[in-house]
Amino acid sequence: MKNIAILGSTGSIGTQTLDVIRDNKQLFRAFMITAHSNAYLLIQQALEFVPAYAIICDETKYSEIKEALAHLPITVLAGYEAIKEHVTHLDIDVVLTAMVGFAGLEPTINAIKAGKDIALANKETLVVAGDMVTALAKEHNVKILPVDSEHSAIFQCLAGEQDNAIEKIILTASGGPFRGKSVAFLADVTREHALKHPNWVMGAKITIDSASLMNKGLEVIEARWLFDLRPDQIEVVVHPQSIIHSLVQFEDGSIKAQMGLPDMKLPIQYALTYPQRVKTNFKRFNFADYRSLTFEQPDMDTFRNLKLAFEAMKKGGNMPCIINAANEVAVAAFLKNEIGFLAMSDLIETCMQQIPFVKEPTLQDYLNTDKETRIFAQNLIQRMPLKA
Ligand code: NDP
Ligand code: MG
Repeated sequence: MKNIAILGSTGSIGTQTLDVIRDNKQLFRAFMITAHSNAYLLIQQALEFVPAYAIICDETKYSEIKEALAHLPITVLAGYEAIKEHVTHLDIDVVLTAMVGFAGLEPTINAIKAGKDIALANKETLVVAGDMVTALAKEHNVKILPVDSEHSAIFQCLAGEQDNAIEKIILTASGGPFRGKSVAFLADVTREHALKHPNWVMGAKITIDSASLMNKGLEVIEARWLFDLRPDQIEVVVHPQSIIHSLVQFEDGSIKAQMGLPDMKLPIQYALTYPQRVKTNFKRFNFADYRSLTFEQPDMDTFRNLKLAFEAMKKGGNMPCIINAANEVAVAAFLKNEIGFLAMSDLIETCMQQIPFVKEPTLQDYLNTDKETRIFAQNLIQRMPLKA
């Protein structure tokens, strides 16, 4: 029986993780669940799973949760600091990081230092500080198991292979709702358009990132650290059906791909049961439903975020941290209709040019860069004409 801490249990990945736990009660216990502010859902989850801990970031929701769970043996806590502290609890075996954005970094670092294996959905953690996080994981002998479907695919392709046999990896991208569209078209798209992903239902931030191809950019950087690759070993191919989840090319020229219907429960479960596979009743892929699987090159001139992410990866230092923070601010502003779709890339590029570069950042440098970039980006937005 593994005790799982789910950071961000009320989100898209978090709720699907609880689905996996519900289906495998003999294997897993939800030991800790956390939310940012969704007290209602956190209470429902706590009533069903009776975790040892239920933690809410938003302190104003504390008494409501405490009262609702008073009859159960659950420790209710509030505040981000409480998550950072209790994620190190002795009884936790695996921490599944499903919170969104930079907020995932510090709890993940604390969990690694406490020797917890990480099932990593929160890609921003590796984008921001992949060098530090992977070095820490090595030092503390903990596994970082990918939950992101592309990285899970690569991880599955690598089973039984030697690390140094990889020539390159190829991440597949669906292309999102605006695949094939022009810059002129993108200038007028709204948040409602961007929130409709063709193949996946996900949280709002990653859905916008998928529409702008920033999600793929973040995944490129995530892959670099997860699989210890050079930037020139990572490629992206657009595959609109999202059936091949990614590929590895080995030095003898052989290519392995991992396939299946798009369903995040599979990579979530694999990260939790690894190295075992456990039987599921998930819907199976049927060739009769797919007459063809197609591939095309990503259009990085139209979807500039992907190009910017490649540049940031090559530059290294705090540059990926800068693009991550700028992107978080840009996406939040786009979701509030404060800026247009194309302005997101302009904002990120300006931050990359203006925020001081640090070649070998410490954790404090990353925290400073994140803060500074957010303030700078927020100021830029005030000066941007709507739909710039
Ligand atoms: P959601 O927005 O659906 O959920 C985010 C979760 O994190 C919620 O539980 C939310 O709480 C909590 N949260 C949000 N902000 C904070 C914060 N500042 N501090 C603490 N907790 C916070 O996101 P997703 O589930 O879609 O994505 C989670 C992560 O997984 C992201 O990093 C994403 O890139 C990655 N991922 C997601 C995939 C997907 O299919 N959804 C696929 C691959 C990776 P509350 O509900 O209270 O707001
Ligand atoms: Mg992905």
